[in-house]
Amino acid sequence: MNNLCRCLSKLHIKSAIMKRYMVIWGALFFLVMFSSLYLMLETVSTANKPTELNTHELDNIEGKIQRIEEDLMKNHETIKEIKDTVRKIGKGGAVSLDQLKDVLDRHKDSDYGGNVGGKVGVVKMNQIKFQERKDKTVVKDLTIPTDMCLLADAPEAKTDYKLTDVFEKNSFTDVDGGVWKQGWPITYDNSQWSKRSLKVFVIPHSHTDPGWLKTFMEYYRQQTKLIFENMIPKLEEDGRRKFMYAEMSFFSLWWDEIDIGKKERVKKLIENGQLEIVTGGWVMTDEANAHYFAMIDQLLEGHQWLDGTLGVKPKSGWSIDPFGYSSTMAYILREADFSNMLIQRVHYSLKKYLAKEKALEFMWRQQWDQEGSTDIFCHMMPFYSYDAPHSCGPDPKICCQFDFMRLPNTKFRCPWKLNPLPITEGNVAERVNLLIDQYKKKAQLYKTDTLLVPLGDDFRYDTAGEWDLQFQNYQKMIDYINHHPELKIEVHFGTLSDYFNAVYERTNVEEGGRPPQVPTLSGDFFTYADREDNYWSGYYTSRPFYKNLDRVTEVHLRAAEIIYTTALGYARKHASSNFPSVAFMKFLVDARRNLGLFQHHDGITGTSKEFVVADYGKRLVESINNMKKLIAECATYLSVEDKAKYSYTPSSPIFNIDELRKNHDSLPEKNVLMLTNEPSPVLMYNSLTHVRQHVVKVYVSSPYVEVKDPSGEVIQSQVEPYWTDKEKIATDIFKVSFVAEVPGLGISCYYIKQVTENDNPKNTLSFVTIYHSTSTTPANIKPFPLDIKTHSEDFTIENDYLKISFTEGTSMLKTVNRKEDEEEHKVSVEFVEYSTRRSGDKSGAYLFLPEGVAKPVPTLSPFTRIVRGPVISEVQVFTHTVNHVVRLINSPGTEGQSVDMYNIVDIRQQIDKEIAVRITTDIKNEDRVFYTDLNGYQMSRRKTYDKLPLQANFYPMPAMMFLEDSNTRFSVLSAQSLGCSSLQQGVMEVMMDRRLSHDDSRGLGEGVKDNKATPNRFKFLIESRKGSKPPSKTELRFPSLLGHLTSAHMLGSFFVLPQYKNSKLMALTTSVRPLDVDLPCELYMLNLRTMQNKDDSDALKYVPKETAAMILHRYGIDCSYPAKSLTCYTNGGKVAFAKIFNDLKMLEVKSMSLTLMYERENLDMEALTTVKPMEINTFKVTFRSSET
Ligand SMILES: [Zn+2]
Repeated sequence: MNNLCRCLSKLHIKSAIMKRYMVIWGALFFLVMFSSLYLMLETVSTANKPTELNTHELDNIEGKIQRIEEDLMKNHETIKEIKDTVRKIGKGGAVSLDQLKDVLDRHKDSDYGGNVGGKVGVVKMNQIKFQERKDKTVVKDLTIPTDMCLLADAPEAKTDYKLTDVFEKNSFTDVDGGVWKQGWPITYDNSQWSKRSLKVFVIPHSHTDPGWLKTFMEYYRQQTKLIFENMIPKLEEDGRRKFMYAEMSFFSLWWDEIDIGKKERVKKLIENGQLEIVTGGWVMTDEANAHYFAMIDQLLEGHQWLDGTLGVKPKSGWSIDPFGYSSTMAYILREADFSNMLIQRVHYSLKKYLAKEKALEFMWRQQWDQEGSTDIFCHMMPFYSYDAPHSCGPDPKICCQFDFMRLPNTKFRCPWKLNPLPITEGNVAERVNLLIDQYKKKAQLYKTDTLLVPLGDDFRYDTAGEWDLQFQNYQKMIDYINHHPELKIEVHFGTLSDYFNAVYERTNVEEGGRPPQVPTLSGDFFTYADREDNYWSGYYTSRPFYKNLDRVTEVHLRAAEIIYTTALGYARKHASSNFPSVAFMKFLVDARRNLGLFQHHDGITGTSKEFVVADYGKRLVESINNMKKLIAECATYLSVEDKAKYSYTPSSPIFNIDELRKNHDSLPEKNVLMLTNEPSPVLMYNSLTHVRQHVVKVYVSSPYVEVKDPSGEVIQSQVEPYWTDKEKIATDIFKVSFVAEVPGLGISCYYIKQVTENDNPKNTLSFVTIYHSTSTTPANIKPFPLDIKTHSEDFTIENDYLKISFTEGTSMLKTVNRKEDEEEHKVSVEFVEYSTRRSGDKSGAYLFLPEGVAKPVPTLSPFTRIVRGPVISEVQVFTHTVNHVVRLINSPGTEGQSVDMYNIVDIRQQIDKEIAVRITTDIKNEDRVFYTDLNGYQMSRRKTYDKLPLQANFYPMPAMMFLEDSNTRFSVLSAQSLGCSSLQQGVMEVMMDRRLSHDDSRGLGEGVKDNKATPNRFKFLIESRKGSKPPSKTELRFPSLLGHLTSAHMLGSFFVLPQYKNSKLMALTTSVRPLDVDLPCELYMLNLRTMQNKDDSDALKYVPKETAAMILHRYGIDCSYPAKSLTCYTNGGKVAFAKIFNDLKMLEVKSMSLTLMYERENLDMEALTTVKPMEINTFKVTFRSSET
């Protein structure tokens, strides 16, 4: 019964197969007509009644037709078709009696408007199963239970060091400190070790970037692989040798290549403690631009691989190269049950401040944490770099002499012109004295008699010779030192955990506890400067095209994970062997790893060479396209009525993906749905866990359409032109927008068909106004109404919630008026640009070094189109570098309450320029305090300081920034990571792209010139404070519930899946509702990730497990801003697992550590489990395989 839903066209009875029955027609005309109508009436009301003629019903015919029309209100297709057929008969058309019967038969089993349906028959029409109409979801204003606000109203965490205070107190002067340029001359008293000697761990390591100057695979083949290959024999040579390694992307690649013998040898080295895996993430993630979904996912991928393949559970974090650090990562590691972590690239002035107070080791605490439950022991390296010259002590020219890879005849030299000497019996005493003097000086910066001395650099230990040079020379010194107790120092090779364990042991503290006198600290380490005024705020924006691509990949991966797990559950339930679980698991695993790879600190940061950026881009686009296919196919599978009849045919899918990215550097191209006068189904997938309304846009072939919702009701639609040029439109492509409603994690099927002009009063053609026309001939955009304005004037657009005005002349946003309280807010938007300094250090991929403040980019009399309609109204402004769209969406609920801003930025015609959007509001934020998010997970307080250079006042904005005064909060929500600032009161700037000809001397060796037309998307949200309660005096801030949901809805757009051209449709259900009860508003399902089977087994690698990781994040909410017009409810973050899904039954649910390395608790699935505010909890859910 395939090919069933291509129904309506076949209803149009083809004349070619018709014969005329004119002879009998005259006599039978009335008889047939009435009996047929009778038949119809009866089949609708009491199916399957014998089809005999009852002419005495004639009197009631008219009334019955009326009743049918009422009963079948939503199904006038049927009525119309039957009427048409009858009319044709009446007109003597070429229609046979048989054919009329056929029409009626086909409708006999129809299941419309709540009638009980018959089984799927030969009739094609009945494949559209409009479902019984439930009441439309009503948007409502929520009263948030007061306990949900406790967190926001509570005082912030008490810590010894709040980094915001340190910023306030610290002068940020850059005084020459002597050999330790950014510090001070360190002295020490040997007597401090009279009771106990200084214990030193020399920690050999190799920093391997998964892509930077070479691609990931080039680095692997040419360098990283050699490190691993040499590691095995060189560690085996001497049991005292140690090594540690961090990036699982490389390690897993190598693991797949080596034989079982080598695998056993590696396992042994790990077991005996010679090799330690630190962090164990897929990469050493960037912490500024990365979103918390991807940060967690790459860590989870690495940990799952390690645990599953090697049975290894890392416990120490090692992050030496990311350019600034986020407290989100500290939280993530703590939730993964890590005990310790290490960081390195922190502003030199903060390092000095903390070092003076011996506070380079601290318990890093989350700012909302009252109890210290998020504390994690953190070690900060004190000096300029993680290389050997900056690791043994304060004097790099001395430390450099103990990097034996800089001996004569080796690859590297010491820039201080004092080279290493091979250690001999003759010089060992002298060399040791030189070295331990550095160790002892460095030890003055820490409170414990334990010292960590990293020994490594980028891609080190890739030759056997280097292993020999480092280990042999050090061993001679170590032996000498350990045989001379009068030196009051003992030295060992060690790993990171060896060091931390020694600290715990020597301070009598349990692992993971707080050693005595170790202070607590809260805050984050942005913005990083490594020297002078060289602030690393450029990389917040570098390669914004790929930062956008990253978030698009993430959104697709998240949705794909969730719908795959859902569909897999149904496949198991129905024992469907035809569901492509293995092929899709491979898609998912590859996508997890491609997204994970890009979180690397030279990936999403935009700080790799051009061809490496392209390599990342190709991986991301491949994964986006695969995730689109997966989502479309899983949605199809879930929608198909008879799962047994489903089959996976990748070459001819039933539903198409909405858009295709052909290249890694091109914008996506929309697929156009070819309409006919039979309705084409379009599936919508909602990846959020509550029902919601959302405006979707479908590209179609006709301006005259009819859109039906899953209940069969014709809904309001708006068609706008597809512009081929500023004033030209396509005649075969149009965009239809309408408000779709889809259940949580569910799928709804909407139907679109072509109608004739004026046939559907609920279809509106957009009204277009053009300002500043540049064309010599008047535009013709028929059939759309057009008004070409020759003079400019202020203008407005509006929806149910907002009315916004634009300035004449510039066409830029000017005010936002909220209809609810009739408050008008100044919100003026302009573009500004920064130039690069003409002399000295220059802006590059990492650094932002502007020549003074930004200058406005003039946008006088730009070509402007205004498109107005009942669903969407927008203003499209074309400037030299930006195609700028400001949009209002007329959707009930969350979406209609914010202003959309969408830009396509193209600065390829410029050089050494950085372009930003500046939003000037009337918010009177005190002291230029503003808030930016960290990784989309939490907000951090920022303040613009005159004591810092302009570029220091830029911060990462992965998702959100806001300003507030006593009455109002103004938020800018972002759909991609970019740099931002608030240099003046009420003003926000978001950097959008940068094009730079110079290298900024951090090793990349090139500027940033591979710019492309780059999309970025924002939402502006203006909220009034409730009552007269003043803003909290604490520094802690949370988005409102509406802010959270607006952000989640912007990223979690519905996936729109139009019918694939001429695809063979199957019987579909128009609404799939996997959730029994929606999850509450405050719980965000970060992931529902089916667990991979054994990665190093060819047979099992992509066979999905029956378990999935459900990761739930409970938002921290600021209740001072009312929760308006929402479609979800709140319950204090509670969930009963057994009640989440309708059809998928769970066998068991376990509470786990974040990356599933440790089991915490077996949960009662029927009972309510509470997720605390701000917490991200992982639950291991095991689904029942089939209903037995
Ligand atoms: Zn690196």
